[in-house]
Amino acid sequence: MDITKKRIGIIGGGQLGKMMILEAKRLGFYIVTLDPDTDCPSKSISDELIVAALDDVTAFRKLAGKVDVITYEWELINAPALKILEEDGHVIYPSARSLEIIQDKFLQNEALKAAGIPVPDFKKVHSIADLSPGMLKTTKGGYDGKGTALIKTEADIGVAYASLGAGQKPLMLEEFVDFALEISVIACRAINGAKVIYPIAENIHTNSILDTTIVPARISAETEEKALSIAEKVMNVFEGVGTFCVEMFVTKNNDIYVNEVAPRPHNSGHYTIEGCFANQFENHIRAITGLPFGSVGLKQPTVMVNLLGQSDGSAMLIGAEEAYLKDPNIRIHLYGKPQSKKARKMGHFTVIDKIIEGAIERAERAKEIIKVIGT
Ligand code: ADP
Repeated sequence: MDITKKRIGIIGGGQLGKMMILEAKRLGFYIVTLDPDTDCPSKSISDELIVAALDDVTAFRKLAGKVDVITYEWELINAPALKILEEDGHVIYPSARSLEIIQDKFLQNEALKAAGIPVPDFKKVHSIADLSPGMLKTTKGGYDGKGTALIKTEADIGVAYASLGAGQKPLMLEEFVDFALEISVIACRAINGAKVIYPIAENIHTNSILDTTIVPARISAETEEKALSIAEKVMNVFEGVGTFCVEMFVTKNNDIYVNEVAPRPHNSGHYTIEGCFANQFENHIRAITGLPFGSVGLKQPTVMVNLLGQSDGSAMLIGAEEAYLKDPNIRIHLYGKPQSKKARKMGHFTVIDKIIEGAIERAERAKEIIKVIGT
């Protein structure tokens, strides 16, 4: 079979889906996207768009009938429905089983711990009496810090518990890790089991949302080696084909704990678009279609900065002309979301340089100028 004749179904039409499609189209594939929003970022470049909820079993079936392989750009989708599709013989990458475990932060931590991978201490919360200082999390449905509440002292318990639904949703309590640095490792696995691992990214979050990614991460060679070997072990815990992201905490003593795993390309891997020969989206598409991987080495030090909505309203990009004039080598990506909302991911930009200090400085300068606002 001519491999480029394959049809790919993508559940979720956000920016990650859009960036997958940009690569898939370059490789000649036909794309059907499923998303609830008729104005989703993937709309303009999908061959077909099925407008349906991310838990709509009938729509999943319709998608499956149109494509050779299904992938997803977002983990908060109907995993049991994917399992049924798998049982019916449809190909889903990464596997529904991995998605099911990863969707539940408690099960995810249990699976990692059982494999000897360091995770913060954690326990299930049955009632408010189980709470003490630490990181309170909903076990399901959280993203960008929604679904986490810090309990700094005993006095915060009531507010934290109430903010996460006062026991209406399953909760877990994690030990608070006083980390020096957050890092992430993007890895891809092929159908034949071959793996590639990208250079480690250092991530700076503001209000639990990724703000800046710096690559190479400013860690010692020893810590780098440790993080890579942990990422490799994590890949062995979760089966399935495609791109995964492993987020980790690094402490002052260079101890590493895995925070969470995403079974998809990740915001902290956007740097690979300019920073590496084959980016995380291309290698995801290559993996799920049976093509060999492109190389993942870093071309030059790279910094990625997220463009978050500054306010609510019709989205407007400001400062781009000035930023381009000052530095023609920055690259802006806009996701095509018509509406800006405060802290919504509207786009990002990337800077590459011969030295990391140069990339950081130029990124900081551009960040002062480029903004997405709502009007
Ligand atoms: P989400 O799934 O919403 O991204 P995370 O579990 O990754 O939630 O938490 C969001 C952020 O909160 C992390 O990037 C980190 O900065 C902080 N965080 C999460 N868990 C812990 C922890 N156990 N100790 C310290 N900080 C944490």
